[in-house]
Amino acid sequence: MKLEGSCFCGAIKFETNTAASRVTHCHCIHCRRISGAPFLTYAEFKYADFTFTSGTPAQFNTRPEVTRQFCSHCGTQLTYRDSEYPHLIHVTIGSFDQSERLIPQDHIWSDRMLPWLQMDDGLPRYTRQRGF
Ligand SMILES: [Zn+2]
Ligand SMILES: [Zn+2]
Repeated sequence: MKLEGSCFCGAIKFETNTAASRVTHCHCIHCRRISGAPFLTYAEFKYADFTFTSGTPAQFNTRPEVTRQFCSHCGTQLTYRDSEYPHLIHVTIGSFDQSERLIPQDHIWSDRMLPWLQMDDGLPRYTRQRGF
């Protein structure tokens, strides 16, 4: 399965040639703050299967081991990588052309979920990190 995506302005484009290994809603405070949204949803891929096909994203560390990439022109959050899991990359599902094919499987940091957020999806919830 090939998936393609881009930032809002189109300066950064990427593709993957495999299905996501996992799709997760993250309710942690870092994802909330860096996106400005109540939570972020990421699709996980092997880093070796992910390629930027246009442009070079800027990056920012939200923890020493966590690097997040974004478009320096339009500000779209694109990826998350943890140096403890260098073989993986997590990509914001709203950045894909085929977001509807990336179906969430669970929630992490659910103890930080905003109290007014109602998600009756029946998916597993992990109060903190699940591990990879
Ligand atoms: Zn952009
Ligand atoms: Zn998070």
